[in-house]
Amino acid sequence: ATPPASNFVRALIEHDLASGKHAHRKDAAGQPLPTVITRFPPEPNGYLHIGHAKSICLNFGLARDFGGRCHLRFDDTNPVKEDTEYVDTIIDSVRWLGFSWEQGGTAHLHYASDYFERLYQFAELLIQAGKAYVDSQDAETIAATRGNFSEPGTPSPWRTRSVEENLQLFRDMRAGKYPDGAHVLRAKIDMAAPNIVMRDPILYRIRHAHHHRTGDAWCIYPMYDFTHCVSDALESITHSLCTLEFENNRPLYDWVLHALRDAGVFADPLPHQYEFARLNLTYAITSKRKLLQLVNEKRVDGWDDPRMPTLVGIRRRGYTPESIQLFCERIGVSKADSWIDMSVLEGAVRDDLDARAPRAVAVLDPLKLIIDNYPEGQSETCTAPVHPKKPELGKREFPLSRELWIEREDFQEEPPKGYFRLFPGNKVRLRYGYVIECTGCDKDADGNITAVRATYLPETKSGTPGADSVKVKGNIHWVSAAHACAAEVRLYDRLFKEPHPDAGGRDFLQALNPDSKRTLTAYLEPGLATARPEDRFQFERHGYFVADRVDTQPGKPPVFNRIVGLKDSWGK
Ligand code: ATP
Ligand code: MG
Ligand code: MG
Repeated sequence: ATPPASNFVRALIEHDLASGKHAHRKDAAGQPLPTVITRFPPEPNGYLHIGHAKSICLNFGLARDFGGRCHLRFDDTNPVKEDTEYVDTIIDSVRWLGFSWEQGGTAHLHYASDYFERLYQFAELLIQAGKAYVDSQDAETIAATRGNFSEPGTPSPWRTRSVEENLQLFRDMRAGKYPDGAHVLRAKIDMAAPNIVMRDPILYRIRHAHHHRTGDAWCIYPMYDFTHCVSDALESITHSLCTLEFENNRPLYDWVLHALRDAGVFADPLPHQYEFARLNLTYAITSKRKLLQLVNEKRVDGWDDPRMPTLVGIRRRGYTPESIQLFCERIGVSKADSWIDMSVLEGAVRDDLDARAPRAVAVLDPLKLIIDNYPEGQSETCTAPVHPKKPELGKREFPLSRELWIEREDFQEEPPKGYFRLFPGNKVRLRYGYVIECTGCDKDADGNITAVRATYLPETKSGTPGADSVKVKGNIHWVSAAHACAAEVRLYDRLFKEPHPDAGGRDFLQALNPDSKRTLTAYLEPGLATARPEDRFQFERHGYFVADRVDTQPGKPPVFNRIVGLKDSWGK
């Protein structure tokens, strides 16, 4: 494997390694800690999408490459939106991508909710240090008195409460003595700070809600800005990577950790937050809210619809974990927001599968071909390589007989200029079989072509000495009608027909591609009848296909999804 390309995050880590910043740290049991510890911190409020894959590959990839570790941490502090269903699918998706949070027999799978008690105790310490206070203004007033870029905020009348009063109120908040919204705990920083995030941000709010892990144990919940940095410090995270929109929150991240260091809770070196550009992918949307809308309005067949940019959807579409890793490697990591073209993702899966997907024949738009001089009821075996560049994968076999299925587009009664496939009087090769000469076609009463007629040249079978005795320009694929496996094939295409479906606040539903799913019955090479869920193939001339992992059932013909075509044909 080629070494990973460098990027600004790797450079930062190398710098820290050179300076020994995180050397000599020990965990609670006195064991040395790795010098690189990252984390992937999803909120379990939805399905992961391709944007999350960038963050997963970055965080777990750094841990792998620097001999450290990466934690999977659920940022589950918002009881109303979160659910164990999401926890389970996130765990599955990270595993599927090929990453592990185990190290030395320990699973570094964490939940911010496991820190609720400690977070609470730390908040009391901030109160005792005069660095937090209970504000009894309502949410609207707090928002309205924050000020703006040109105006400083207005301090709350409750900002000067005594430590004792604040402690009592905060304990009573925890004890459930107040309804939602009655009070909040705020950090006491600076109501005139140029960075609005620093104008006494809220650390805790009252929320009488059931939490999917802590049940009804709590009726106050910590905010992201308080929880995240504390969780990082509790887990000895060295490099806390998040997307650019959190850049303004970094001073608050540092403020909280410094305040707790000064209170004797944490020690240097503290974790540090670094920001990178989020992934924006053309012809896709990565907003959880909009993806939910697609599912709820049944614009797609669920979260794992093969057209969805969710990791469950991408997996069902047939993308391999390796192709997603390759994609993330290729797009790199930077500090500048940009758009990545969908063709980069499609190119990654093509490159991955071209090298290893077995080849197979499928006729997607069947038309009967009858070889009049081939004996009825007889058949013979043709052989083809499993993979043209990998002889070690061996050969595959399939029968040839008098009646075959060919692609409808491979016959033209009146051929356009430059057409080398079947037309009356022309010769083509049946791939891996014989050269045939087209003699005409059959039609129904309406003039529709029902079958093509041909004769074969017995001395021209592929792989025999006479194979090259007749030169032809066309080469078409086929399957024997009597032996073919009839199967459902779904031709998926991009979900949106425009590169920026939700640009400028536009209604992204208008940009849906009406032809993003076509279902047809195709005839497959007989060996494909036993394909198992998630087996992937290149259907010659058509592209890469996967046996659907949900609908392919034992004892029934497989159902195939088109992953991607052979060539990038978009915009051409
Ligand atoms: P929400 O809409 O709930 O804010 P989110 O996309 O931020 O959703 P999280 O569960 O908080 O979802 O994300 C987990 C991690 O994945 C975060 O560290 C976040 O920065 C990162 N992430 C989310 N979207 C992208 C993206 N498009 N590109 C790169 N990283 C992303
Ligand atoms: Mg979130
Ligand atoms: Mg988020």
